[in-house]
Parts: sequence; C-alpha cells; structure tokens
Amino acid sequence: MTSVVVDPTKCVAYGICVAVHPEVFEIPAGSPVATVIRDVLQPDDLDDVREAIRACPAQALTLAEA
Ligand code: SF4
Repeated sequence: MTSVVVDPTKCVAYGICVAVHPEVFEIPAGSPVATVIRDVLQPDDLDDVREAIRACPAQALTLAEA
C-alpha cells in the first residue's frame, strides 16, 4: 500500500502538487498547507505523484509504503 505524506512543517502551500494531481492533493480553504485527499494511491496516481514530489519547491512530499 503506497501513500504520499505532506510534511506540514515544510509545506508553504505553493499549490504545485494540487496543479499536478488535484485528485490526490488539495489546499482546503483557509489551510496553510496542502492535504492528501486520497489516502491510498492507485497505480495510475504514481507517475503524477512522483512528478509532484520532484516539483515541490519545499521538498515537503514523500512516498510511504505500509
Ligand atoms: S507543492 Fe509542496 S509546498 Fe506546494 S502545496 Fe504541495 S506540498 Fe506544499
């Protein structure tokens, strides 16, 4: 089971991850950080999630295996 985690101490809500994959990431109204909508990633999510991890300027995203 693969998931992606947002480190709230690093995320500065640039929103790049939301632009790359809005079905996985969102920035709720008023939130200072991005949150993960889809707790368990689907195989089709992985390419875009890896792209979001690379593109995140705060290096706030990591993949987690459980
Ligand atoms: S791209 Fe990185 S810094 Fe920007 S909202 Fe997503 S997790 Fe936060």
